[in-house]
Formats: sequence, structure tokens, C-alpha cells
Amino acid sequence: MKIVNFCAQVDEAKCQGDKLCEQVCSTGAMEVIDKKARVQDEMCVACTRCFDRCPVNAITMVPRDQPMLVATSVQEVDEAEVRELCLKAYRRPDELVCICTGTYAGEFAAAIIKEMSDRGLVSYIPHLFKWYFKQFP
Ligand code: SF4
Repeated sequence: MKIVNFCAQVDEAKCQGDKLCEQVCSTGAMEVIDKKARVQDEMCVACTRCFDRCPVNAITMVPRDQPMLVATSVQEVDEAEVRELCLKAYRRPDELVCICTGTYAGEFAAAIIKEMSDRGLVSYIPHLFKWYFKQFP
């Protein structure tokens, strides 16, 4: 779970469209269209990867008008199922598996069980898939 207080913002005048930000963004929030990077605010978890990598300092992290909660409720699904799924992935439910989004293995498992229908999870589905299928090739 993470409360996201910031969001990446692109200065189009500085952006060179090199796609580095797009490549490092784990949530798919950053996309280069017509040689300019664009952020989908609702998908940005403020991990600062794009900010750190941009060679021309075209990205700044700006405060959000409203904090955004990125989370899935483990309490809404069967606890035994969560434990079982985590065990299959050799993870403990309380193990932090994604620093960028502050997500625990139990949250991922709950989201998978809920078929990823949680609105709050939509932003990091690409990351979730990468993590999940690495465990189950
Ligand atoms: S701060 Fe992180 S999540 Fe947001 S656009 Fe940049 S790389 Fe993507």
C-alpha cells in the first residue's frame, strides 16, 4: 500500500523524446507520443525512476491536488487463499515485493484472486505480471 503524494510532470520544451523514461517506468504511466513524453497521472506512483534517469532534466515531481491511494484490500479475500498463493511464489504475505508501490506479496495475491479488478491496482498491473510470471515460467 502506498499513499502517493507526488506525480511526474514533463517539461515538453526540454523533452527530447529519447524514451528513457518510458523504458524505466514500471507502471506504464510514461508514454512518448510524437517525440514528447506524457504522463498518465492516475498511473504514476511517484517512484522517481523517470526523474532520476532523464538526461535533460525534463521531469519534475510535483505535488498532487489529492493524495492517491495505491492498494488492494487483503481483507476482502479468503486469507487461506492468499497464504496459499504466496507460498506457491515462495513469498510470505507480509513480504515487501515492490518498493516503488510499497506492495506486499499478500496484496499481489489478493489482487490476483480478485482478478485484478481493484481500481487502485490498475496502475501497476504491468509490474505485477512481470513479477508473477517470473515466479511461474
Ligand atoms: S515517477 Fe515512476 S511511475 Fe511515475 S511516471 Fe515516472 S517512472 Fe512512471
